[in-house]
Amino acid sequence: MTSAVVTGAALGIGRAIAGRLVADGMHVVGLDLNDDALATARDELGDRFEAVVGDVGDWNAHERAADAAQRAGELRGWVNNAGVDWVGAAHEIDADHIERGLRVLQLGTMYGACIAVRRMLPARAGSIVNISSIQGVVAFPRYFTYDVAKAAILMVTRSIAVDYGAHGIRCNTILPGCIETPMTYAGLPPGLSRDEALRREGELAPMLRVGQPAEIAEVAAFLLSDRASYLTGTEIAVDGGATARCFPYPPLDTGGE
Ligand code: NAD
Repeated sequence: MTSAVVTGAALGIGRAIAGRLVADGMHVVGLDLNDDALATARDELGDRFEAVVGDVGDWNAHERAADAAQRAGELRGWVNNAGVDWVGAAHEIDADHIERGLRVLQLGTMYGACIAVRRMLPARAGSIVNISSIQGVVAFPRYFTYDVAKAAILMVTRSIAVDYGAHGIRCNTILPGCIETPMTYAGLPPGLSRDEALRREGELAPMLRVGQPAEIAEVAAFLLSDRASYLTGTEIAVDGGATARCFPYPPLDTGGE
């Protein structure tokens, strides 16, 4: 059996990726801080989902996840997904805010990538997927640390792809747009029903809706599979067209009048 590590697998996008990989026949080790949500995921996904409680900002947590994945099968996939919504403009934040944000968003991805390649090198086979954001290529207001970290993830991907392409290891980035997850729920504006707030968020993308975690999981599963055999070092925006557009003013009346 082949195995994969998915960080931040307890909820949201990571949970959907874990479920998709289990359905595809892999053994999945989910590394996450949230032990209650990991236990729920384990109940729902069954024996082929294994929980490892830990912080992606801790190198050893990745080692433990890799050990578990290698005990269960041949480690062929690794998804660096865990992240936090980290709001603050440059004049509002301090060194502690920056360091804590980077630890999860940037160092967590770098640590995971390093350990994944070490474990994949002997077999000369494996695929790594890094979950960045459209904020890795376009800045959102008041997201200084998050934007910077998400941009750095693109270079993690390219660097790994360049160093290990000749060794059978691929690495790619997904740039999600606004996806319906607990992280997104927590950031919705107050005073609106969840449905109405999500509808308004969705209007920021040309497809006029937010995305679903399963729509990210589909692309992650593809990138991890041999179907993506010549794809490495690049990024795929899964954003309903959000980054294709400059200003979101409506030049066309699409109301059919
Ligand atoms: P979420 O908050 O719904 O789930 C994140 C999961 O990561 C949780 O289970 C949480 O416990 C875990 N986690 C957080 N910090 C951790 C840490 N230090 N160590 C281990 N686990 C940790 O978030 P989500 O929306 O599913 O986001 C997943 C990834 O996608 C993140 O990297 C996020 O930045 C990115 N992303 C999300 C969106 C979106 O709209 N939801 C858009 C672009 C990018």
